[in-house]
Amino acid sequence: MMSRFDAAARMLGISDEMYDILKVPARQVIVGLPVTMDNGSIRVFEGYRVIHSNILGPSKGGIRLDPGVHLDEVRALAAWMTWKCAVVDIPYGGAKGGIACNPREMSAGEIERLIRQYTVAMLDVFGPDRDIPAPDMGTGPREMAWIVDEYSKAKGMTVNNVVTGKPLVLGGSLGRTEATGRGVTVAALAAMDKMRMNPYRTTAAIQGFGNVGSFAAELLHERGVTVVAVSDISGGYYNASGIDITAAVTYRNANKGTLDGFSGAEKITNEELLSLAVDVLVPAAKEDVITDDNAGSIQAKMIVEGANGPTSASADEIINSKGILVVPDILANAGGVTVSYFEWVQNRIGYKWTLDRINRRADRVMKDAFDRVFETSQKYQVPMRLAAYIVAIDKVASTYKFRGGY
Ligand code: NAD
Repeated sequence: MMSRFDAAARMLGISDEMYDILKVPARQVIVGLPVTMDNGSIRVFEGYRVIHSNILGPSKGGIRLDPGVHLDEVRALAAWMTWKCAVVDIPYGGAKGGIACNPREMSAGEIERLIRQYTVAMLDVFGPDRDIPAPDMGTGPREMAWIVDEYSKAKGMTVNNVVTGKPLVLGGSLGRTEATGRGVTVAALAAMDKMRMNPYRTTAAIQGFGNVGSFAAELLHERGVTVVAVSDISGGYYNASGIDITAAVTYRNANKGTLDGFSGAEKITNEELLSLAVDVLVPAAKEDVITDDNAGSIQAKMIVEGANGPTSASADEIINSKGILVVPDILANAGGVTVSYFEWVQNRIGYKWTLDRINRRADRVMKDAFDRVFETSQKYQVPMRLAAYIVAIDKVASTYKFRGGY
């Protein structure tokens, strides 16, 4: 995050003072969370919440439960959220939270008590106008509902807009589940348009067949793109005449969430998928899959980053020198946070929008953001990743200047 931030800050020529303001998180909270385990013992977990910036508005960012969570990681992810919200022009700052624990080894009751303790510890941090958490690795609608409940008890009233990513019945938004994959599709189609690629004559390979990857695959297919390869943790699946995406989704849903054993395609490795001779490559699984080791073998004309951080900073130069257009993560996967923002807006006005309205508005946000970043990349003659950071940093820095330092 820092190496790309530095490059964009240099390009924009921001002052050293502004550099420090944008670099150092506004607030970092570390809490000890004693939880009674099912066997009666008490274990203390460490929880974090980092608010990187609240210059544009209340801070927004997920909460992750993972044994590897540590402060530095949370700080980097919080900054990432600041830039992501700024790129798509939604009035939020960036934050991230985490608790070092292994949810796979905990019962639902233990996780619930942990989440409730964390919420109580963060009562003066969270708030619909201050800091709005959301799900991330290891958390989902269930955990968000517990946060709403605990926070509401403390405030003596129901406050459902303290988090987003809630169950629908509790004020969640229609369209949130598919929002990130949908945004990836909008960004990919906008990029194809700039490169004068006809979707009906375009092939794509998609790594990761979870929430982001499978919706992107379905929607790209719907728009005429031939998805020749998909993959998940079990490996890659290739069919030159196009994977039947509906069949793949049905198969995965009936097969404990994996594509393992999926027929109608030739089995390849995840590594082979990345170097297929396709037009569009969508890494939508995990971070650091494109590195300086394999960047040289990528044949795609365009990479649309569905995952967060799929390309390591060291691979950027190789990819750029090959002339591959990269639609960077902070732009391409911002459809999710956009619909989260819509969830918060709907909660505030106490009214539910239709799915059609949500999709139309989210598509427009993504398309406008794409155009802004593309124009900036032309203006500064830089790749779109750097352009996205330039757009974001410029927005936060100029807002800060208007608000005035003291
Ligand atoms: P998910 O858990 O639903 O799916 C992940 C997919 O990647 C699964 O198909 C899994 O099998 C596959 N996978 C895991 N490890 C792999 C590996 N080593 N090689 C190949 N495939 C592997 O997760 P998701 O919500 O789809 O998120 C995917 C990425 O998108 C993550 O980087 C996440 O941070 C990012 N992201 C998600 C959202 C969202 O709204 N869900 C928003 C922004 C960014």
